Amino acid sequence: MTTASSSPQLVGDAAGNADLSPRLQALVAGTCELLDRAVREYKDVVYSNSLGAEAMVLTDLIATHVPEIEIFTLDTGRLHEETLALLDRIERRYQRRIPVFSPDSAQIEQYVRENGINGFYLGLDERQSCCHIRKIEPFKRAIAGRKAWVTGVRREQSPERASNDSIAWDDRYDLWKVSPMLDWKEEDVWAYIKARNLPYNPLHDKGFPSIGCAPCTRAVEPGTDARSGRWWWESPESRECGLQPRRRVIPIKVESRRAAAQ
Ligand code: SF4
Repeated sequence: MTTASSSPQLVGDAAGNADLSPRLQALVAGTCELLDRAVREYKDVVYSNSLGAEAMVLTDLIATHVPEIEIFTLDTGRLHEETLALLDRIERRYQRRIPVFSPDSAQIEQYVRENGINGFYLGLDERQSCCHIRKIEPFKRAIAGRKAWVTGVRREQSPERASNDSIAWDDRYDLWKVSPMLDWKEEDVWAYIKARNLPYNPLHDKGFPSIGCAPCTRAVEPGTDARSGRWWWESPESRECGLQPRRRVIPIKVESRRAAAQ
């Protein structure tokens, strides 16, 4: 279990990263170096903030070290209140507005007319169609004309992500994809959140390791696949919204994050 007492030993840092372990300092340095390189090479770089735990780390690093990177997020219209409140807390903490991209209302109305308000439960096609309207289409609008986008994926999350390059051409969206957190472990993420006293979604403390839309996310027992609370009624292979490549499934054990954040 990841707990405060099992976190890496903390040390001080006069450069502003107080109370970060040497490992965290190295991860922070590598992440910022990659973000800096992306800005130097591509200039027009955006970060798609998922408002998950990794996003709290990346938001902090971008806001404090590489503020040239624009941060945006998606509001699908079906997010938890806790997630929306977190967005407000982030804006207040960093004193910067985070543009919110929302689905096209005409497409939503059409979808609901055809499938009902919770049509995503009807089947895979209906669910993926909802994700396309509420996530993919707004995401494409957000990155249109940009040169690179930043994502918080980590290697340990799936076999596909394990073999990712930190900078790679994303031919699904036709721009560069920058993944500066590939080598972060889950315990690193929570150790950084704790050391920097960052805001995070309180649902993590209630057994939600991965948080998406409210009707499609539920709490899971410690020790189960981190993604098993997302679209739990589907087979594990289909449990992606489409923003990231489809994954092959191997069990990834998660520990309670409540203790880590305490
Ligand atoms: S996660 Fe659920 S509610 Fe959200 S866009 Fe996908 S299907 Fe729709």
